[in-house]
Amino acid sequence: MAIPDHLTLEIVTVDRSVAHGEVDEVVVPGSEGSFGVLPGHTPMLAALTVGEIEYRRGDETSYVAVSFGFAEVLPDRVTILAQIAEVGDDIDVTRAEAAVKRARERLARPAAELDYERARLSLLKSLVRLQVAERSRHR
Ligand code: ATP
Repeated sequence: MAIPDHLTLEIVTVDRSVAHGEVDEVVVPGSEGSFGVLPGHTPMLAALTVGEIEYRRGDETSYVAVSFGFAEVLPDRVTILAQIAEVGDDIDVTRAEAAVKRARERLARPAAELDYERARLSLLKSLVRLQVAERSRHR
């Protein structure tokens, strides 16, 4: 079978389409580690963790902050069904900075009832948001 020229990338949440288009390459934050997808990739399903999806069209690279969900990879298509997904313009930087501060304070003063994993994920989500917002400002 011929290798397709491009990948059709679709990033959706339950209520909206976040990004859609023809791309050359996608890097996905899988729960077992990040993985790259080029046209012709073997079909697979992967769970997502908190991180950024990076996709490239020509020499233009874009980023989407995601938290959990699934990626379906086919030789000519990558479909991301994310629990939460935001492009740079969606991200409220002040809100993300406040969330980083809150999560850092919680983690610095671990209390008996602290849900450590929840605080860690909240910190990670907010740091990823700040990174994606920052990258989209520099494009
Ligand atoms: P926060 O602690 O800052 O209120 P949260 O942890 O409650 O955030 P999430 O559960 O990660 O928020 O996301 C809930 C919804 O809020 C999602 O739709 C997500 O896109 C949106 N959201 C959260 N933080 C931001 C942000 N900094 N900018 C834009 N949208 C955000």
